[in-house]
Amino acid sequence: MKRLLSILLLTTLLLTGCAREGQRTHFAMNTVMDFTVWAGDTQSALDACVQTVNDLEAAFSVTDPDSSLSRLNQGQSVTFPDSWADILDRAEEMSRRTGGAFDPKLHNVSKVWGFYDGQYHVPTSEQIQEALASPAWDLGGALKGYAGSCLCALLEEQKVQRAILNLGGNIQTFGSKADGTPWQIGIQNPDGGDYLGVVSVTGTMAVVTSGDYQRYFEEDGVRYHHILDPETGYPARTDLRSVTVICRDGLTADCLSTALFVMGLEEASEFWRASDDFEAVFVTNDGRILATQGAVLSGCEYEVIAR
Ligand code: AMP
Ligand code: MG
Repeated sequence: MKRLLSILLLTTLLLTGCAREGQRTHFAMNTVMDFTVWAGDTQSALDACVQTVNDLEAAFSVTDPDSSLSRLNQGQSVTFPDSWADILDRAEEMSRRTGGAFDPKLHNVSKVWGFYDGQYHVPTSEQIQEALASPAWDLGGALKGYAGSCLCALLEEQKVQRAILNLGGNIQTFGSKADGTPWQIGIQNPDGGDYLGVVSVTGTMAVVTSGDYQRYFEEDGVRYHHILDPETGYPARTDLRSVTVICRDGLTADCLSTALFVMGLEEASEFWRASDDFEAVFVTNDGRILATQGAVLSGCEYEVIAR
C-alpha cells in the first residue's frame, strides 16, 4: 500500500502543470505501472504499451515460472522474439562493464533469501554458496529499464508526441514537454514521506532508482534488502541508501543503478568519472545527498561530485 501510495504521489508530481490526454494504470512485472501519453491516437498507443509490457514479462520475467527465461533456466530450449534477443547479451555486457557488480544470473541466490516468492528468511552460508555455484538468469535489475526504452520505440511508431512512463519507480520520459520546460522527477526519500529532491531532464530519458527500501525484510532485528553482492551472495553492504541513474538508455540506467548501489559511493563516483553516458544522484546511509556534475537537481541541499 505504501509503495502504491508513493507511486501515485510520484505520478501526481510528474503531471503537475500538464493537460492529461491518455492515461493507463497497469500491474505487470510485480509492480504498478502508470503510462501517460499526449497526442497521437492515445488509446491505441496505451493498448500497445500494455501489450508490450505483458509480452516482455511473458518472455523475461523470472517471477513468472512459465516465462521463456524461466524455462531457459530449467534447461529447456527457448527462442526469444528477434527484436528483444539482444537483452541477454546486453545484460552480460553490463556485467563486464561493472566488473561483476551487476550480475544477471543471481536467480538462485535471490531464491534462497525468499526474494523470489516472498518467503523471506536468512539462508545458511552453505545454501548461499550452493546458490552462487549454480547461476541462473534473473533480469529483475534490468527488465523494467529495457521495457522503458522498448516503449519509447513503440510510441515513436505510434506518432505519440510525448509521454511519461512510470514502470514501478523506473521513470522513462519520451519527447519534450509542450511548454518546453524540463520533466521533473521526484527522488524518493528512503525513509518514506516527502521527496528528497527533484531531478530535471529534457527529452527522452530514463531515470531509474535502486534502493534498499524498495524490497527488504527484517529478521532478529537485522534488515536484509534485495540488492545482492554477487561476490558474497548477501545483501550488498554499502554506504548508500539509494542510487538514481539518469541515462538516455533504459537498460543501461537500470543495470547501472543496481551496480552502483553494490559498489558504494567511492567506487561508484570513480566509475562515473570513467564513463560519459550517465549522471547519478546518491543518498548515503548518513543522510547526505550527492549528485554528479551533470545532474540537474533542485529542492534539496547536495554535494556535487566533480570529474
Ligand atoms: P533494481 O531494483 O533495479 O536494483 O534490481 C533489483 C533486482 O535485481 C533484485 O530484485 C534481483 O531480482 C536482481 N538483483 C539483485 N542483486 C543484483 C545484482 N547485484 N545484479 C543484478 N541484478 C541483481
Ligand atoms: Mg536496476
